[in-house]
Amino acid sequence: MTSSQSTQWEQLVKNLSFDTSAFIQGDYCSDTGKTVFQTENPATGEKLAVFPDGDSDTIDRAVAAARAAFPSWRGLAPEKRKSLLLTLANKIQAERETLALLDSLEMGKPISIALGEVDYTAELLRYNAESIDKRYGDVAPADPATTLAISQQEPRGVVGVISPWNFPLVTAMFAIGPALAAGNTLVVKPSEQTPSSVLKLAEIAVEAGLPAGVLNVVPGLGITAGAALASHRDVDLLHFTGSTQVGRQLMQYAGQSNGKPLLLEMGGKSPQIVFEDAADLPNLGAALAGSIFYNTGQWCISRSRLLVHENIKEQILASIHQETQNVFTIGDPLDERTTLGPISSRKQFDRINEYLNVGQKEGATLERLNTAGSIPQSLKKGGYFMQPTVFNNAKNTMRIAQEEIFGPVLSVISFKTEKEAIQLANAVNYGLAATAWTQDLSRARRLARDLNTGNIEIRATTTEAAEPLGLSGEPFGASGFGVVGGLRGLEPFTRRKAVQFITG
Ligand code: NAD
Repeated sequence: MTSSQSTQWEQLVKNLSFDTSAFIQGDYCSDTGKTVFQTENPATGEKLAVFPDGDSDTIDRAVAAARAAFPSWRGLAPEKRKSLLLTLANKIQAERETLALLDSLEMGKPISIALGEVDYTAELLRYNAESIDKRYGDVAPADPATTLAISQQEPRGVVGVISPWNFPLVTAMFAIGPALAAGNTLVVKPSEQTPSSVLKLAEIAVEAGLPAGVLNVVPGLGITAGAALASHRDVDLLHFTGSTQVGRQLMQYAGQSNGKPLLLEMGGKSPQIVFEDAADLPNLGAALAGSIFYNTGQWCISRSRLLVHENIKEQILASIHQETQNVFTIGDPLDERTTLGPISSRKQFDRINEYLNVGQKEGATLERLNTAGSIPQSLKKGGYFMQPTVFNNAKNTMRIAQEEIFGPVLSVISFKTEKEAIQLANAVNYGLAATAWTQDLSRARRLARDLNTGNIEIRATTTEAAEPLGLSGEPFGASGFGVVGGLRGLEPFTRRKAVQFITG
């Protein structure tokens, strides 16, 4: 690290203060939550800040603020709502260093990646804002002499959002963007590991001109603030991103309270299928390593199962070993060259290590991969750093191939035929994403039809391409339900009314 690189971020850390209270009705409230929890920097193991644990009274206040703000937010002219959200997107960009630093410190995300995620968060919001005055409703065919029949779309009301720690700002914006664009008001409960960037977002939103009460944020634990929000009788829709286990618990809370509808974005065990006719075989390693080890494997759509044709398995594995060193530099998250940070918490670190034991007991062969860079001595003492790992000779029925490990661990399984590859890809409970490498157009069409995942990439080239913001998909099975992304991603945040004007 050059001294100027370190100084810039270290200086920002010195000047950084954490706002820890719930943000309700346009301001931080000092009197929320009777007990506390604390955040930790996973790169050092050091304590960062102490937050009040939002209790049910705090959630009540936040929901009441959102309810009170709803009529006027819903009633804004589309151009006005769009303009406010575009101003917010610009403000997010203006605050990119602070927002990125908060995510980097609380989650261990490399700062260069965190900066890119703040930019992406602003882009997501811009996309949703721009859609506001470009979406049209439906007029149903009816007898023109007597009837005008329309399917009217309206916001649902107060939307609760419960979000995870792996992409703190981005995952929250996947719900906040379309919910606000559709005219809803919100109460957000971010992960207790990473509450600060979303709290800061609520503060920036008020500076951007969003009325007080439109975006409220309550930090807290899942079992307190999360459960109170999911069980609240005046929440009209709950959007959740997180584990399947918790998502299913939320279905119970919803059923036991007001029967609110849910949008659930949950876990995955996504396959990466490499056929013999994949393009650029000798150089596939970079893309394959990138799609599992990015964010230190803590990525819902990480391709954590490599299904590879038996004839090319050794070649592909050699390329992954080689390219992991070129693509990933492990080190201090505040060094701009770092692309592989620590695991996000002690609990997660222990959990992944347990899976490394499980995989070996199940008979798979553990191979540790080298990366560029090194972990500074100062961080080695307390940080939760981990080298990327491959489990060679895994079987799809093993726990390491069935369960979401959520770390830098790739299970490698070989196949003989296309039919077997598809069968293996689908033989898990999850259905979030898949990538297949082939240049055969007919096979590509069959894969797009037969793979049971909400997001499919068929790749005939190693050239990278960003996923278009306008693309919509919906998870399968244990990965959840609800359309995500694009213009269609706004629809679940609205309700439809069938209205007939019968005028004779
Ligand atoms: P988690 O399920 O432990 O926690 C997610 C959120 O739920 C947190 O805010 C937590 O406080 C809250 N929560 C926990 N218990 C609760 C309860 N009883 N009631 C109400 N709320 C509760 O998940 P995590 O560890 O934060 O995130 C990792 C998981 O998220 C992985 O399974 C990953 O696949 C998933 N994820 C999915 C997507 C997607 O788009 N499908 C995106 C990112 C992460």
